[in-house]
Amino acid sequence: MGKNSEKILFLQVFSRVFAIFANIFQKYMRKIIHIDMDAYFASVEQRDHPEWRGIPIAVGFDGERGVVSTASYEARRYGVHSAQSVVVAKRLCPHLLVVPPRFKVYKQVSEQVHAIFHEYTDLVEPLSLDEAFLDVTNNRAGIELAQDIAMEIKQKIREATSLTASAGVSYNKFLAKIASDYRKPDGLFVIHPDRASSFIAKLPVERFWGVGPKTAERMHHMGIYTGEQLRQVSLQHLTEVFGKAGQVYYDFARGIDNREVIVERERKSVGCEQTFLEDLYKTSAVIIELYHTVMELVERIARSGFEGHTLTLKVKYFDFVQITRSLTVADTLTTKDQILPLAKRLLAEVEYSAQRPIRLLGLSVSRTSAATGSTSDEATWEEGWLDFEDWAT
Ligand SMILES: [Mg+2]
Repeated sequence: MGKNSEKILFLQVFSRVFAIFANIFQKYMRKIIHIDMDAYFASVEQRDHPEWRGIPIAVGFDGERGVVSTASYEARRYGVHSAQSVVVAKRLCPHLLVVPPRFKVYKQVSEQVHAIFHEYTDLVEPLSLDEAFLDVTNNRAGIELAQDIAMEIKQKIREATSLTASAGVSYNKFLAKIASDYRKPDGLFVIHPDRASSFIAKLPVERFWGVGPKTAERMHHMGIYTGEQLRQVSLQHLTEVFGKAGQVYYDFARGIDNREVIVERERKSVGCEQTFLEDLYKTSAVIIELYHTVMELVERIARSGFEGHTLTLKVKYFDFVQITRSLTVADTLTTKDQILPLAKRLLAEVEYSAQRPIRLLGLSVSRTSAATGSTSDEATWEEGWLDFEDWAT
């Protein structure tokens, strides 16, 4: 063996050993809390309108093409849920009361809640108006158990806002997020490092963070229903089927998620994109997908409270060649009625055909950079495989 190959072997062994120790360290040293307000928009409305308490309500724009943003727990009993069309929701629950959103109020309440988080740590990463990760490994109050901090935060949120939140506690973001969902509403659930493996083993794959309905369906076709079964699949096979996300699923199945809690940077854009199972070239099919993408974008804008003026359309062709088209308007882009016509206008500038079909469509709304007036380069895209909607309020 030459000196160089010895060196490479040493480095490989060293990095492997290092990774193992890093994981153990993460597992026993880090304390992450995920806080998620319960049925947020709907709860705020019921708080401010006592006459709406105890009855099924949905926050969203009423009408033929309206979508439910958040459903109250009373409405959920009828099968009403977020991202559902208002028409379907009303069919399921004929006496459903659909009330328009008041994003300004939701934003104010969110600020109150964040002030409470910052009493404990500045390592706060918001996912949306009503959800955030907190790294409390070194917290201001010097409290040993993250569970105690979570309890205090829940209590303070209730006192300050008259609203309930659910909390999940664990050693990484993935598990903390699952934990907060586990005992909703008003829940507090801890996934201890020693219990993580057996907890994940029993977890249905659709509960995994980042596994949307489509991915879950593909997994089911592969005979994968639980974390235990997911663990049996090789990394190679997972990446063959799911691309980059395969590595994420592989790690999640083993309780590994080394992502840091990233302190809020000012968001530059909100976007979403979708890769199609089959490349598209028929105008009717492309328009339908554009419509779906607009609906998802509107939902994400609502959840993040984002205010932007530039709409960017991204198109990736069958051969992975990618183009973007942007336009900027004076109004803040928040509703479907504003965004859909603009999206169609951008799409009209894009050529495609049976010889040049489309593989991916994406849309984002961004702030306009004052210097250049162009934003398309800054647009950040949430990849399709991270289906955050599955974790909707
Ligand atoms: Mg929520």
